[in-house]
Amino acid sequence: MGYSYEKKYDAVIVGAGAIGCSIAFFLARESQGKFKVALVDRNVVGDESSSGAAGMLAAQIETEAAGPFFDLQVQSREIFKWLSGELEDITGVNIRYSKKGILELARNPEDRKTLETRMAWQKAAGLSVEWLDGGRITQDYPFLKNNPDGGLLAPEDGQVSSSHLVQALCDAAKKLGVDVFESESFDDPVLKAPRQGFLETNISRFTAGHFIFATGAWTGRLLGGGVPIDPVKGQILIYETPEGWGKAKGWETPIYCGKVPCNVPAVCYLVPKSDNEVWVGSTGEKRGLDKSENTEATLALAKAAAEVLPEISTFKLKSVWMGLRPGTPDGLPLLGLLPGFDNVHVASGHFRNGILLSAVTGKIFADILLKGKSSLNLDAFSPSRFVKTASAA
Ligand SMILES: Cc1cc2nc3c(=O)[nH]c(=O)nc-3n(C[C@H](O)[C@H](O)[C@H](O)COP(=O)(O)OP(=O)(O)OC[C@H]3O[C@@H](n4cnc5c(N)ncnc54)[C@H](O)[C@@H]3O)c2cc1C
Repeated sequence: MGYSYEKKYDAVIVGAGAIGCSIAFFLARESQGKFKVALVDRNVVGDESSSGAAGMLAAQIETEAAGPFFDLQVQSREIFKWLSGELEDITGVNIRYSKKGILELARNPEDRKTLETRMAWQKAAGLSVEWLDGGRITQDYPFLKNNPDGGLLAPEDGQVSSSHLVQALCDAAKKLGVDVFESESFDDPVLKAPRQGFLETNISRFTAGHFIFATGAWTGRLLGGGVPIDPVKGQILIYETPEGWGKAKGWETPIYCGKVPCNVPAVCYLVPKSDNEVWVGSTGEKRGLDKSENTEATLALAKAAAEVLPEISTFKLKSVWMGLRPGTPDGLPLLGLLPGFDNVHVASGHFRNGILLSAVTGKIFADILLKGKSSLNLDAFSPSRFVKTASAA
């Protein structure tokens, strides 16, 4: 096949969600633009899971055990402390980084036990966590229905706006020399071509030393060869508050409110957003690539939210957003070379935490490609835990 465009790069990143954009940004930043990078998406930048995620940087509140995954999350959360300012300096885009903690309410004695266990090991690990009793929650969050069992606050956790994060990472990467190609698609499976040092889209042939697949929930299908990354659909309700409502209440802390009785697995969380919005999540549904709305889940989430925040029933339900999380069998991402290849890297499977983990993932791949290795121990995230030798289809 003759191609109108033949393009040569040091690295081609396939997929321009939070993960692909972060890798592009860190490669450009750390090489000062000397490493030639192409970022290619079959659609537009940040159009999939990263566009509407709740944006919580929930390193502590979502984690039940110490270990490599917890360390990775905490490392990534640390990076956001400087990344938000640097991205704004380069691009002018404010990613709405807020470090006002995340609170999880104990709705019953069982919840309380789980939260107390989490508090104990996180304290032992030297991290800040605080128990708020029911009286303190009523005092700090008077708009919530009284909660006698109290709750756990992780004051170092926070949030960003996912869509602004992706935009800022991509704009910054471009300013630092990355070439971005939209509406170019690689057909699955694609593993044959990288052995020859190139990948072909419907438009171009990309020749490169490294190919990095940051293709989110589509990675398993695209790579084939036993890569177990599959879509897990999540649904979020976006409410519009009256102008200035959140600001007047001084509410910036996302709040987890426990499991939701529903026809699919669901937990309720409330995320106050700076643009007169409150986001309510979320479900976890395995329905392949189907992103259609589950109306029963919409009703169940709305009911659960109103039980905690009664005023929400008076807000306008602006939209319902569905996205596909990249899930893996053990809930951990795949970060590193695909077994059987020395030029195909996987950067996917971030499941519920891809916004939080975008920062550290970008840094890891910049270190691997520019310095030969990451300073972090990535054994727990090696693709080889699932894939012995990926076949070139
Ligand atoms: C309801 C919900 C709430 C969430 N809340 C949070 C949260 O609060 N905090 C958090 O940290 N995470 C959250 N997440 C998880 C987070 O959204 C994901 O982990 C993250 O967005 C994954 O990013 P990604 O770049 O890997 O994938 P995506 O953002 O899905 O990007 C993958 C890209 O690859 C492209 N692509 C796919 N196939 C091809 C191909 N063949 N050729 C070219 N391009 C291709 C796609 O077009 C897409 O742009 C949430 C997810 C959901 C669904």
